[in-house]
Amino acid sequence: MKRRDFLTASASVGIATVALPKRAQAESVVQGMPKLMPPEKPAELNLCLQWRTIPGEEIKAKLDWLESNGFQAVEIPSGDWPITNGEALKSAMVGRKLFIATACGPSDFSYAEPEKREAEVQKFLPVITALGELKSVGLILCPARGKVPMGFKELREDFVTNTGKRLAEHAAKHGTNIVLEPLRRNETPFLRQVADGARMAADIGPGATVMGDFWHMQLEETSFMGAFITAGKLLSHVHIAGLKARIIPGVNPEADNYVDGFKGLKFIGYRGAVSFEGGWPKNPAEPKKEIPQEQKVSLILNMCKMLREQWEMA
Ligand code: MG
Repeated sequence: MKRRDFLTASASVGIATVALPKRAQAESVVQGMPKLMPPEKPAELNLCLQWRTIPGEEIKAKLDWLESNGFQAVEIPSGDWPITNGEALKSAMVGRKLFIATACGPSDFSYAEPEKREAEVQKFLPVITALGELKSVGLILCPARGKVPMGFKELREDFVTNTGKRLAEHAAKHGTNIVLEPLRRNETPFLRQVADGARMAADIGPGATVMGDFWHMQLEETSFMGAFITAGKLLSHVHIAGLKARIIPGVNPEADNYVDGFKGLKFIGYRGAVSFEGGWPKNPAEPKKEIPQEQKVSLILNMCKMLREQWEMA
């Protein structure tokens, strides 16, 4: 096309745009940006701690501590723990406002040998049954860790139609879920983004959900808010840690900003737990020892205050 012809053609496109029928113009103005619909029920900030982080030794003491310090949920260990301690935990939970969020522990469904993958399924079936009894939100699973022996396409297919699918079906039958956890690239190359986990959960169907861990997300996601929105109703759990170091939030307050992520959680009406998963700052007095318990308690309470303030800001 000659330059003169190009200019003429551009001009006619311009005229055509301006000459839209009046009704169409009005609709485009009304439609404009997409309408943002508030969730049916407003989101809630339900703060939660992992079992080893909760002050106290016995089950009752830990639950008492959580309740008296304004927590709403508790995260328990995975493995055999829910089976061994289920009855004791169930009776200790009677009459409390707390809910049992997830059970967290290692898993791997990427073995090259089908019998090893099957052993992993068989290992978790009774754990899921126990979690159902406890009315727990679900069992956290990572389909693959470290060097992945299976091809990604083969692993995804096997997890979505076989290993993960059967565990999710079992979970749905017992009133609980599997909860897929995306990790950092140095921990798994297979499942790193909340949107990917949400797609896998949707492909699996009932009993499958996804979670987001702020620590992993800050490396793998371009937007905390966007990532949570992509999960929508499939988001069943959230882990939180400092964003500069994987320690309790609030130690590096200049880095620990969760407002954007909390906006996403509010947008989708999230009412699950936000659970601290991480370590403690170094003990300057004795670098080889952990910080004293009273200092840990004060850091936990400092985190709660900071997260509640940021939730209000979101
Ligand atoms: Mg995590």
